[in-house]
Amino acid sequence: MAFLKACFTNILDFILPPHCIICHSLVQNAGWLCSSCFKGLDFISEPFCVRCGQPFESYEMAGSDHICADCLNKPPLWEQARAAFLYNENSSVLYYRLNTQIVRKAYRF
Ligand SMILES: [Zn+2]
Ligand SMILES: [Zn+2]
Repeated sequence: MAFLKACFTNILDFILPPHCIICHSLVQNAGWLCSSCFKGLDFISEPFCVRCGQPFESYEMAGSDHICADCLNKPPLWEQARAAFLYNENSSVLYYRLNTQIVRKAYRF
């Protein structure tokens, strides 16, 4: 069965080659990003606000509590929120395409 699935995947990849989710250039596997688009994503790393996930420029700016000014002034209704990367030209397209796929799958029975 695994052999048949691999054969079918190879045939499908030949007819409809996998493409980058963002720029549609050819990639090795379906669902992947090309190296250029991957490098264009701004991944969020520490230090960041423990409530909303907004990154700080330095640990000194994060302070001892690691809560940003926005969350201190108007605490959000949620306890914690995180994003993988900052919103920019590449990530906006990626978020839109992934969201569209999720909605399509949700309505597929
Ligand atoms: Zn790309
Ligand atoms: Zn915050």
